[in-house]
Amino acid sequence: MGNIHWDSDAKTAKIRILDASEYRTEYRDTLKDMEFTLVHELIHLELSGLPRTDASHRDEENAADQMAGALLRLDRPQ
Ligand SMILES: [Zn+2]
Repeated sequence: MGNIHWDSDAKTAKIRILDASEYRTEYRDTLKDMEFTLVHELIHLELSGLPRTDASHRDEENAADQMAGALLRLDRPQ
């Protein structure tokens, strides 16, 4: 539901997240997913200095999902 493009030399990044109006979920679930997506994309930025190949891409996606979930659970324990 989002993506990130960064420029290491310029030290800039642009994160895009699907607009809330495009979601087909309840408002609260939409906001949670948008927040999850933002954290997920920020983790990609943090990992951007690591070597990346097509083969490692899936592992990075899984790691970013797991870390985003863990960070959000820390912020909002159930
Ligand atoms: Zn990702």
